Amino acid sequence: MKFTSELLHQIEANLETGALAPPIYQTSTFVQEAPGVNKGFDYSRSNNPTRKCLEDLLAAIEHGAGASAFSSGLAAVDAVIKTLKTGDKILAVDDVYGGSFRAFTHIYKKLGIQVNYVDTSDIFEVEKALNEEVKLVWLETPTNPTLKISDIQGIAVLAQNVGAKLVVDNTFASPVLQNPIKLGADFIIHSATKYIGGHSDVIAGAVISKSKEDADQIKFIQNATGAVLGPWDSYLLIRGLHTLELRVKQSCKTAFELAEFLHAHQDIQKVNYPGLESHPNHWIAKEQQNGFFGAVISFSFKDDSTETALKFLKNLKRFKLAESLGGTKSLACHPASMTHKSTPKSIRIEAGVKDSLVRLSVGIEDAEVLIEDCRQAFENTQKLKPIDVLK
Ligand SMILES: *Cc1c(COP(=O)(O)O)cnc(C)c1O
Repeated sequence: MKFTSELLHQIEANLETGALAPPIYQTSTFVQEAPGVNKGFDYSRSNNPTRKCLEDLLAAIEHGAGASAFSSGLAAVDAVIKTLKTGDKILAVDDVYGGSFRAFTHIYKKLGIQVNYVDTSDIFEVEKALNEEVKLVWLETPTNPTLKISDIQGIAVLAQNVGAKLVVDNTFASPVLQNPIKLGADFIIHSATKYIGGHSDVIAGAVISKSKEDADQIKFIQNATGAVLGPWDSYLLIRGLHTLELRVKQSCKTAFELAEFLHAHQDIQKVNYPGLESHPNHWIAKEQQNGFFGAVISFSFKDDSTETALKFLKNLKRFKLAESLGGTKSLACHPASMTHKSTPKSIRIEAGVKDSLVRLSVGIEDAEVLIEDCRQAFENTQKLKPIDVLK
């Protein structure tokens, strides 16, 4: 529990009052001693003590020079793209988060920023696709929802060779499992809505930068464009960070056992989970994720029919049917009709998002309980008639 010890040590008691928990500074502005003379805070868009406490913690746990907290993960994504200018190119993982894909396609393309996609889990593909025009290499590892793993350290070297910066969206691994800056990344993005917040009650995002120069640029963009995180939400993330390691490790442990159960199940065609030796980049995951494999699992059925997947989801009792992940409660979803609904079918299938693919986000639950839930859901899926699914 070194992660947690270090983190708790970073949070100083409030100097004025001795309060152990950081105060929520719900204020828009700050009284100045004289024009331009203040205590480091003049207006809460530019800086706020509660948000600063969170940002300092995030920079420390991700080993960066600085961090900025945003009002959503996508606002964090947006801030990093805004470091570019017209004509710059991005090389992104082909399985990129749908919201990032939408921003690339519908916002940034018309501003002259072109994005090319490549299967970054194969480092030779990255090497082939890189050239001097690429300014950002954009990774997610593991990806959503097929849990592809890319070699951060290897790709960092390739990016550096052509003068591109490496961005890693570290949402799925969380800072407990993986610290991309230590592996050579320049920027880390988090949708703090997921593991960092951890209780499915806040939308938030963060960018952590390796260099002070990049951290200052992101801070400038945060203030200039204004998608800041409010003091209450900052407080919720600070609170979430206290138990991040406990939650993530418990969820990973349960997910590992559940993945093994699913892998052995007769109705299943394929389980995507980096912890299984059958996963193509299992050994990279083991190395770069501190020996843990995450708490998201996806799998498809032998008959690969939407109907079977929907029957299974209907039969689950412990998993709630919902988008999102990384919370204390276990969630299940059907990417083809939920998160990837607007993706054209041929692109979706090529990305491995099959009709029957089910994604599970394992919460801080007992493995036996979740395995039993899946076992009964498989059994009852065989029994349900098609008509029952529609009810
Ligand atoms: C959810 C998510 C985002 C977007 O975050 P929001 O907080 O929903 O805006 C970005 N990247 C990944 C990998 C995500 O899972």
